[in-house]
Amino acid sequence: MAEAGPACSESFAWTARCKSIADFRSAAFTAPWEAGQANSAALAKMAKLVTQADETPAPAWVPPQPSRQRPLPQSRLPLLPPQEPNFRGKKTLVLDLDETLVHSSFTPVTCDLVLSVFLGTEEHKVYVRKRPGVDEFLKAVAKLYEVAIFTASTSLYANALLDVLDQRGWIQHRLFREACTRYKEGYVKDLSLLGRNLNDVIIVDNMPVCYALQPENAIPIRTWKHDPEDTELMDLLPILLSLAHVEEIPRMLKEILAYEASEDDADEAGAG
Ligand SMILES: [Mg+2]
Repeated sequence: MAEAGPACSESFAWTARCKSIADFRSAAFTAPWEAGQANSAALAKMAKLVTQADETPAPAWVPPQPSRQRPLPQSRLPLLPPQEPNFRGKKTLVLDLDETLVHSSFTPVTCDLVLSVFLGTEEHKVYVRKRPGVDEFLKAVAKLYEVAIFTASTSLYANALLDVLDQRGWIQHRLFREACTRYKEGYVKDLSLLGRNLNDVIIVDNMPVCYALQPENAIPIRTWKHDPEDTELMDLLPILLSLAHVEEIPRMLKEILAYEASEDDADEAGAG
């Protein structure tokens, strides 16, 4: 990687990653919902537990107005408690759960985990596939970040899953659907409510709508459901490791995009 570029491992597929970020950010304000799939009975049940944004037909989407300055409502406490002493000064890495770290289904499939979740007295089996590299990813980022899961799923499901997924204590905080801001047919994760300086927050999420209020803080990741060859989490590690000590996350991500755009322009000029 050229010295002029952002600090990053040479092994990282920088071009692909930055182009992906630019594409996803653009998509955040044009097509946040993917086209719907047929609603099976299994999906209907699943929707009670897991946000199925991917399967939701697109509503008329008007993005919430990005605002980095919006103050907390005075009556509302921050979503996260103050940083514990051993995490003080570390940046906060906010991770989505479904289709970012795992994919869950009510339909029996070959999977890594089977959860029993009760809706009232009714027991449901949830079949969970772990995204390739998720354990190594969590182990690595936990050394450098205060890690928070921020999911639009219910705590009933997500707590049961995280209890199994995070047996080593890599994740410091869990935020569920009730911590999200309801917006039309979806959920927005308003990072300004976390109680952290936005210069020190990164969100990794497969749904652009979820970080529509603070796209400057977002690193997109592709939706994952079953591809065993997926390498997105491992590809993200170098950039996350390099961002752990920068002063302003949004500015650095912006510089990364500007750098990448200049590289693209140079390539095009060279090709011409
Ligand atoms: Mg997701």
